[in-house]
Amino acid sequence: MYSPVVRRLIPFLVLLAGCQTPVEESATSPARPPNIIVIFTDDQGYADLGIYGAEGFETPTIDRMAAEGIRFTSFYVASPACSPSRAALLTGSYPQRVSIPRVLYPQLEVGLHPAEITIAELLKPLGYATAIFGKWHLGHHPGHLPQAQGFDEYFGLPYSNDMTPDATKNPNPPARRHPPLPLIEGLETIEIEPDQAQLTRRYTERAVDFIERNVDRPFFLYLPHSMPHLPLFVSDQFAGASENGLYGDVIMEIDWSVGQILATLDRFGLDEQTLVVFTSDNGPWLVKGSHSGSAGPLREGKGTTFEGGQRVPAIMRWPGRIPPGLVSDEMVTAMDLFPTIAGITGAAVPSDRIIDGKDIWALMSGAPDAVTPHEAFFYYWPGQLHAVRSGRWKLHVPHGYQTIEGADLATPMFHGIYAQAEIGLSLFDLEADIGETTNVADQYPQVVERLLGLIATARDDLGDSLTGREGRNVRPPGRAAVTP
Ligand code: MG
Repeated sequence: MYSPVVRRLIPFLVLLAGCQTPVEESATSPARPPNIIVIFTDDQGYADLGIYGAEGFETPTIDRMAAEGIRFTSFYVASPACSPSRAALLTGSYPQRVSIPRVLYPQLEVGLHPAEITIAELLKPLGYATAIFGKWHLGHHPGHLPQAQGFDEYFGLPYSNDMTPDATKNPNPPARRHPPLPLIEGLETIEIEPDQAQLTRRYTERAVDFIERNVDRPFFLYLPHSMPHLPLFVSDQFAGASENGLYGDVIMEIDWSVGQILATLDRFGLDEQTLVVFTSDNGPWLVKGSHSGSAGPLREGKGTTFEGGQRVPAIMRWPGRIPPGLVSDEMVTAMDLFPTIAGITGAAVPSDRIIDGKDIWALMSGAPDAVTPHEAFFYYWPGQLHAVRSGRWKLHVPHGYQTIEGADLATPMFHGIYAQAEIGLSLFDLEADIGETTNVADQYPQVVERLLGLIATARDDLGDSLTGREGRNVRPPGRAAVTP
């Protein structure tokens, strides 16, 4: 494999590279399992990257990530809001399954149950170093913070950056009464109301430092940015960088952050040992006007079960293992990361519980004829079963929703107020009608009947607060009073 000269140099190269050892390649479980980096932005819309059609700002680094790996165009998060989307990402299970169906506010005692197994806990037995730098939002009581879920290191906000008593930073009318926003390191609050203009840069510096300290062992780095969730803040370096104002500036700083991560991997020769995933927790907060992103051709945004709420950009890069330049329109979900990461690292998927995600490595690695492993994807909000997608078809059952159509955008700055609307039983052909504009239920009664059957199965399995059904296979939430 190596020439004699190179072989003699190996000990020195190993020292130079921070004690790396050459990796033995095997099918799915290399001798040293790969590093995993998940970059998770907040409220970034489907069209808010250059490669997905952004207008007014550029994301050259993330676009390059896509060119060097795979980009998904039907990638779904399991909820159109922060906490449930994160619960699903980290556990591979629907938010209803783990009883985190809604956003967690600072006043609540609830968090992700400590008995839930996160990606970090999946990887710990394999010797991974684990860290989260950014927004947690799965419970802020000590027993619910990241240490309870397998993370060695934590630096960030416990929940959203608008959960503060400072009215200038709280876009929710009427302003909820929140305690001062803490910045947490480990289990300790180290600052109150931190300078939010520094958050993206500080998370990035932590991430780079973490990689540098763990060059010689596998690591899992979870980087859930606080941005571009409102209130938007950007460091001086990126103020005015884009042509569409603060929102574009914020995304360009995130693009810079991704560049810092990729440059660090390159510097230590870790490119081919590292899977990097970039995606967003839900769609854009459309009612916030110019402070919001864009879902492009998709209907509605955050807080709805239309495509704009849950279909998000998703890029995965692993040089040498994921061929460059792939684009897939197959239906995949954030929940799939859990079993997929298990597959590529050799970690054991828990067998004592239902994991809703599926291993999508065949799709990610460009296997010929690979197709989605999902018969159906269910759209819940908030705890109500609104819709199902199967193949090209998406069926909404009757439900209410917030809408940007007719919303009050005239209120000061970002205090816009959604209008309310109702949708009846509606079948959409997402291949022909990605914007969910034309109800074709009357033309395809057998499709409607089949999808209603899937809905009935999910109601029984996961429950549905719209019809008052308790799920048969639901696990409990963590409660601060009864958990360690
Ligand atoms: Mg969010």
